[in-house]
Amino acid sequence: MLLHRGKCRESWFSPSTGDGAAGLTLLATGRDVGNLWFPTFVAVNKRKLNPMTLLITSTPLRAALEQSATMHRHLCPRQVLGARMGMYAGELLGLELPRTDKRLFTFVETDGCFADGVSTATGCWLGRRTLRLVDLGKVAATFVDTRTGQAIRMHPHPEARVLARSYAPNARSRWHAYLEAYQIMPVAELLVARPVTLTLDLAALIGRNGIRTQCEQCGEEIINQREVLHEGRVLCPGCAGAGRYWSEAEAPEVLELPYTKVEERYEFVPAVQPVRRNG
Ligand SMILES: [Zn+2]
Ligand SMILES: [Zn+2]
Repeated sequence: MLLHRGKCRESWFSPSTGDGAAGLTLLATGRDVGNLWFPTFVAVNKRKLNPMTLLITSTPLRAALEQSATMHRHLCPRQVLGARMGMYAGELLGLELPRTDKRLFTFVETDGCFADGVSTATGCWLGRRTLRLVDLGKVAATFVDTRTGQAIRMHPHPEARVLARSYAPNARSRWHAYLEAYQIMPVAELLVARPVTLTLDLAALIGRNGIRTQCEQCGEEIINQREVLHEGRVLCPGCAGAGRYWSEAEAPEVLELPYTKVEERYEFVPAVQPVRRNG
């Protein structure tokens, strides 16, 4: 198990990226002060011990980071940035996080570790239809309270990287300094938040669940009201000439595995186990 929290308050991380961190297994032991947990990360590598202190100063942040670190098999500065952005958005919008409803909607401007930091902190996920990727290649996000319409866009403070060094002066690399400092820096030095007005129709973007129609050209089903009326026909956006990201091979064919190969991959498990009776 990559990350284990037991009664002994120890966690294991196996970072796979970062300067000098690759391949090390880190053991985090910590002490509780009030409801704050101050873990000390010690690289478990017999030849070289590298203590690395992480100051995770709040339980919700710790929970978000543990969840994303488990998913990613490492903890990195961008996960921390994402989680802190999400948590700050919750404070500014006055919403408790992580959400289990759909009140908060988030646009992330890049994918990767950052996006999962945002998700674990906010509860906004692609799979819950409360997160959208607008791929602008930016570590930035916009958080929308769908009840009030209030929207806040956030990006890292332009000086955050420089300031981070002073919060982690003993870090063994810049990467480690960011990882540690981003967890404890005052939010005003880490992030910039501005109110914004959405220029798209969020209700239309979300669409209505449960509505489905069929494309008159390709015959595929269209959900969430994504169909368009094109020259009198109901089409999927792709057939209407918008948003198609692929082209068909010259001789389009349907790929299939030989029947027997498909069969052996699956095992039929009855949903209800039959009751065994004697006699
Ligand atoms: Zn990462
Ligand atoms: Zn179509």
